[in-house]
Amino acid sequence: MTDYSLPAPAIEPAELVWRDGLPESARFGDVYFSRENGLEETRYVFLSHNGLPDRFRNVPPRGAFVIAETGFGTGLNFLAAWQAWRECRPDNGSVLHFVSAERYPLTRDDLKRALDLWPELAPLARELLTSYPPLVRGTHRLVLDGGRVRLTLYLGDVMDAWESLSFAADAWFLDGFAPALNPDMWLDNAIALIRRHSKPGTTLATFTAVGKIRRALEREGFEMRKTPGYGRKRDMIAGVMQVNAPATSPPDSGTVAVIGAGIAGTLLARNLASRGIAVTLIDAAEDAGAAASGNLQGAMYVKLGVEFNVQTELALSALIFSQRAYAPYQGTLWHPTGLLQLAWNPQEQDRQARFIDRNRYPEELLYPVDAATASELTGTPVSAGGLWFPNNGWLSPAGVCRELASHALIRCRFGTRIERLVPCNGKWHLSSRNGADIVVDNVVIAAGHRTPELIPLKGEYRFKSIRGQVTEVPEALMRAPKAVICGQKYLNPSHNGVAVTGATFDLHNTDPAVTQEANRENLDQLSAMLPDLFPDEAHQGEFEGRVGFRCTTHDYQPVAGMMQDCSGQSLEGVYLLTGLGSKGLTYAPLLAEYVADRITGQPACLPASLASSVRPDRMCRRRSD
Ligand code: SAM
Repeated sequence: MTDYSLPAPAIEPAELVWRDGLPESARFGDVYFSRENGLEETRYVFLSHNGLPDRFRNVPPRGAFVIAETGFGTGLNFLAAWQAWRECRPDNGSVLHFVSAERYPLTRDDLKRALDLWPELAPLARELLTSYPPLVRGTHRLVLDGGRVRLTLYLGDVMDAWESLSFAADAWFLDGFAPALNPDMWLDNAIALIRRHSKPGTTLATFTAVGKIRRALEREGFEMRKTPGYGRKRDMIAGVMQVNAPATSPPDSGTVAVIGAGIAGTLLARNLASRGIAVTLIDAAEDAGAAASGNLQGAMYVKLGVEFNVQTELALSALIFSQRAYAPYQGTLWHPTGLLQLAWNPQEQDRQARFIDRNRYPEELLYPVDAATASELTGTPVSAGGLWFPNNGWLSPAGVCRELASHALIRCRFGTRIERLVPCNGKWHLSSRNGADIVVDNVVIAAGHRTPELIPLKGEYRFKSIRGQVTEVPEALMRAPKAVICGQKYLNPSHNGVAVTGATFDLHNTDPAVTQEANRENLDQLSAMLPDLFPDEAHQGEFEGRVGFRCTTHDYQPVAGMMQDCSGQSLEGVYLLTGLGSKGLTYAPLLAEYVADRITGQPACLPASLASSVRPDRMCRRRSD
């Protein structure tokens, strides 16, 4: 299906015509909502004919109610559902998941203009607009309302969306344009996919009453009824799934322990807590963020591939998600100063030229700059141009880890080194030398380079541990930048008088002590990359540094999800979240969201292709050797 005409990852936006102040689609020649009163129409057609908001009252503790929609458009249906959810939801940690597909997304400006029509929705509209993604195709997960609302917005064709997303709907809002004007949305195979994402009792409502569509829905197992339409529309239809459909109810997530209080583990623990789930967060160290996530500063970025393939899509999704995930810490622990990916040698210049030539990225994500602009943006002289990422920057990772770990539903067991995971009557027994015995339904190993020791399948999984030393450079010695610069090395803006640069990449060195030799390597490479950074020979002295060990994989892709043994059998209740290499700050937020989706049985934030690219069983020796 996919060929969304523009070069990837861009997606064509909607072309709107504003008639009497209301949006219409120039392409489809139809209105986005009723000219009489769009909000009332939504409440009548989609909410009340799906039994909402009443059904919201009965969502069980830590459960989820899942609404799926065809055609996100102006987001009016979404905001109306969210508003009703706020009024009626039980105070029990449950989540409203809204899954919607949109082939021609509105630009942020159009979305704002359309939503300005509804003053009573203004606070929710503002939150949506703040999180609204750059217009790139694929799956976007927006976490709203402190985590009580999660929107999975698939930018692409509805068929691709339902083919690749994993969810089971409780209610459907079928809201394409009129079938005569937008037949693709209502094809029989699109309706067949609706069944795949439904279960007995799933309800459905749509503004249209076209007989062909009603019959197609009946063939797929919905018992349909015709009822009066909204306003001047005579009829509409609504229905309930009767037959046994493949989707099953989500499991109760039970008790959860997360081993490792680095950026991945703390993000995951906090994520689960935001879904009402109590978590035991365990670390051998006495505090969160004490190991590889403990550097003073960490650059938040990824290198996007020249080809827009699965790896690039995962990196891009992670980048967009992480920019929003750290927003609560903006100005304190998260500094979106902008980031320059410097075209520091001829190979990188050539790579960036091909990247720009083959792809189209919105400027809010990145754009190419020449050396003069790069110097101005970074505030330090650079002799080459590069790619400018206006919304990236640097983080104080250990501080973020500590903040994340501090939540009423997170019980920290620091100073506890888990030695073994042993199956025990359908649960997992986590044993440690200091006698702390922890028994849980689910355990997530997010222990970085210590992960292999904990995997309850000795020797079958393979990971690499890579020593990385960073160097702390006093501000006074250099023309410190005001934005992050990445190339052969990265350099952060200085903070409290020092700027962190690094890191070394040593596969065969297990020495945890800082060496001046590694500091020199960092600084020599940094000054080769930025020849005007250090006046004189200022970087020749001795410096402070820090060593961390990153966990990486043979294909340099991360690992997230439930474990399998090497015969493909799932290890129920054991999950991995690791292999993030040196890109943990960027990958961890999205992958923590994904693992939390899997533990809770809620809709997955990764489409099938990305989920499969992070599957833990890639690490099985027997399979990949
Ligand atoms: N629910 C929307 C709201 O609350 O504003 C209104 C939806 S509007 C009536 C129909 C939407 O379906 C449009 O935004 C249109 O771009 C989208 N659409 C049309 N064909 C599509 C397709 N094949 N796949 C995904 N979305 C499509």
